Amino acid sequence: DAEVVLLGRSNVGKSTLMREITGHQFNTGGKPGVTRSPNHYDWASEDFVVTDLPGFGFMSGVPGEQREQIKTNIVRYLEEHAPNVLAGVVVLDGKAAIDIIDRHTNEEEIPHTVELYHLLRELDIPAVLAVNKMDKVDDADERLDDVADRFGLLPPWKQWQDTIAPITAKQGQIEPLEQAVRAHLEAAKRDDLK
Ligand code: GDP
Repeated sequence: DAEVVLLGRSNVGKSTLMREITGHQFNTGGKPGVTRSPNHYDWASEDFVVTDLPGFGFMSGVPGEQREQIKTNIVRYLEEHAPNVLAGVVVLDGKAAIDIIDRHTNEEEIPHTVELYHLLRELDIPAVLAVNKMDKVDDADERLDDVADRFGLLPPWKQWQDTIAPITAKQGQIEPLEQAVRAHLEAAKRDDLK
């Protein structure tokens, strides 16, 4: 089955999304930055396998050396698996992402979400931005246009529905993400036929 890789800094709702996708229970609110090896699960409603990679976000209390190691592991995994990865899903907190991106990147964010997005692009892995916690966002279109802008995608965001997927994982509203990943699956199939 096609592999979808899930990435995101701590607390964006990755575990909640994983639970929604797979039906398994995950350790929500788990200690950030704890090194885990990649885990693979079936995406319940689709023909995908979803891979959970360790959080790369703010990891206070995690020594710099260990943080670097986590970052290196993520980059290495993506490099090694790029040919088989159908999509890289970067999960963002829709309420907090813009502020975090606009604040100057500090050493505790590794790698910066935007950098990670560009890394996926460099590796030719289709990137999907799963903008989570949309239930907490008042002006969704404005916020999503800002997200598009920060990732170098020309607003309006609606032009980028294969890339920008607003979701509320906590309420099981993940259809835009499923649609985006499906679109990449169809595109990959078309490429195979060429
Ligand atoms: P992780 O660290 O990325 O795995 O994040 P978790 O899944 O543990 O979620 C972090 C916090 O965000 C928890 O309190 C979740 O209940 C909350 N959360 C996750 N998804 C949503 C959502 O769609 N809306 C809201 N309002 N909160 C969410």
